[in-house]
Amino acid sequence: SRSSATLFKVSKEQAVRNARQLYEKERADQKSHIHMIVIGHVDAGKSTLMGHLLYDTGNVSQRVMHKHEQESKKLGKQSFMYAWVLDETGEERARGITMDVGQSRIETKTKIVTLLDAPGHKDFIPNMISGATQADVALLVVDATRGEFESGFELGGQTREHAILVRSLGVNQLGVVINKLDTVGWSQERFTEIVMKLKSFLKLAGFKDSDVSFTPCSGLTGENLTKKAQESALTSWYSGPHLLDVIENFKIPERAIDRPLRMSVSDIYKGTGSGFCISGRVETGVLCLNDKVLVGASREQAQVKSLTMNEFPQTCVFAGDQVSVTLPALDINNVTVGCIISDPQTPIPVTTRFQARIIVFNVKVPITMGFPVLLHHQSLIEPAVVCKLTASIHKSTGEVVKKKPRCLGNNSCALVELETSRPICIERYADFKELGRVMLRVAGVTIAAGMVTKIR
Ligand code: GDP
Repeated sequence: SRSSATLFKVSKEQAVRNARQLYEKERADQKSHIHMIVIGHVDAGKSTLMGHLLYDTGNVSQRVMHKHEQESKKLGKQSFMYAWVLDETGEERARGITMDVGQSRIETKTKIVTLLDAPGHKDFIPNMISGATQADVALLVVDATRGEFESGFELGGQTREHAILVRSLGVNQLGVVINKLDTVGWSQERFTEIVMKLKSFLKLAGFKDSDVSFTPCSGLTGENLTKKAQESALTSWYSGPHLLDVIENFKIPERAIDRPLRMSVSDIYKGTGSGFCISGRVETGVLCLNDKVLVGASREQAQVKSLTMNEFPQTCVFAGDQVSVTLPALDINNVTVGCIISDPQTPIPVTTRFQARIIVFNVKVPITMGFPVLLHHQSLIEPAVVCKLTASIHKSTGEVVKKKPRCLGNNSCALVELETSRPICIERYADFKELGRVMLRVAGVTIAAGMVTKIR
């Protein structure tokens, strides 16, 4: 049998070897997958850039592009024709903003890149968080136009918050796109000014210099997207890679295929046959057809009846894959968006109380005992309470600064305990970094992000 449950009955070393062999056999001739989120302030040009990139890489047909061009002309909104490739719903078009995390794919020489186009509007950050939890790498798009970069970066814009969010959610490779450089005559001085400002900020946010790149572009004209720069005002000082090269050069994150199975559920729908279809991401391990799994906090056991990836049937799927499974005869009350499917031999902890190490970055009122928050964990959004302030700690050294502080203000770092009313599936960051990160939000604003340190 090729069931991973069987794999794990053998010794740990053997199981790891089996999982690796299976992976190499199944995926030998395939390109590696990477999930990329596109972040940045509203109107930075994210949708236009991604639409143009999809078109230039042959992922949008001439026919569809022609349709978008005609429709946008009719409405006098031709500058949005590329953005429309991504903004599929009418409501988004009417309002000219991207609301949900839309998905598209581009293929490069060695990779299949799933694009998660993040919304830039403030109200939509919850969608972005769920996108960011799926992302391996990020593109941060900033508008080089004079005054626009400043309002996105300095004056309460989303540039900083997005960058801190993706970093807190474990994304460490970042491609910064200095976009709309056509609006400043391809000025090297402007480019350098923005790079210098972002560099010091990104370092503080926890990105390593060597994992960050800066690329001058215009999403609208298509300059430096998929071909070497042509514009003489740009080539006079820039000879670096174009955006597609930057994407091609992202390192593929290590897939944790040799760990016990964890799959986070992001969607549940009625399948064609009996039972329910559940889609989500395999965070760790291997999942095979006919495997027995435990579902969510109830730990109901179910058996995998069908397994698909991008609509294609699979016998086995691996950590990093975005998949759909059907689990017949499962009690629908036992599966919720945000719950975790795990390996019966090594089930995921289920709890209502855990300790986390958090960074507070955006509170109007300091956090005190009993403070209510919305807990975000993968796709889970659950009401919770900060039930204990254990200690405030030093940001970089982690040393305890003060035991049992009365309150926590902005830019503080602390150990706190959180309590939910319903049991949730969660892991310690030290055990499964994929499942040990949390975000805390209040009234539509992210106030803190952190890592799970202890489970009660
Ligand atoms: P998003 O909110 O970040 O997705 O931004 P959009 O892609 O919707 O673009 C916002 C506006 O900026 C639209 O009017 C675009 O036509 C314009 N825009 C986008 N990219 C560029 C660019 O490279 N140069 C110029 N001049 N305008 C751009």
